[in-house]
Amino acid sequence: MAAKAECLFCKIGSGQIPSKVVWQDEELFAFEDINPQAPVHVLVIPKRHIGGLSDAGDRALLGRLLETAALVAKKKGIAESGYRVVANTGREGGQTVFHLHVHVLGGRQMTWPPG
Ligand code: AMP
Ligand code: ZN
Repeated sequence: MAAKAECLFCKIGSGQIPSKVVWQDEELFAFEDINPQAPVHVLVIPKRHIGGLSDAGDRALLGRLLETAALVAKKKGIAESGYRVVANTGREGGQTVFHLHVHVLGGRQMTWPPG
């Protein structure tokens, strides 16, 4: 699907809205979360619009999304200490922006269960 005009993350992924870019290629975009929940908090998104995990239907893209989350963790220096990758999905999953993204969180001890 092409960019959705009203979608915040489509605008961030295309550079229309500025963000602190961590990494990008032709397909994926990683940027600092505006409201960090840990010393490291980066979001990884596909540049093209996908509503969420359940709408993805693209095994290769999902693989690269996770691969990129691991790359970001390495780049941010938390690969050794450990980190958490989260895909909040749907209303009860806590998703607030309906463009597929994974959170990469680290730099502190993560707790379980999540809220
Ligand atoms: P979720 O609640 O899983 O849908 O995650 C959405 C995330 O997007 C939240 O962690 C927000 O802090 C983050 N966010 C919202 N607006 C922006 C923005 N303009 N730049 C960076 N992160 C944002
Ligand atoms: Zn979008």
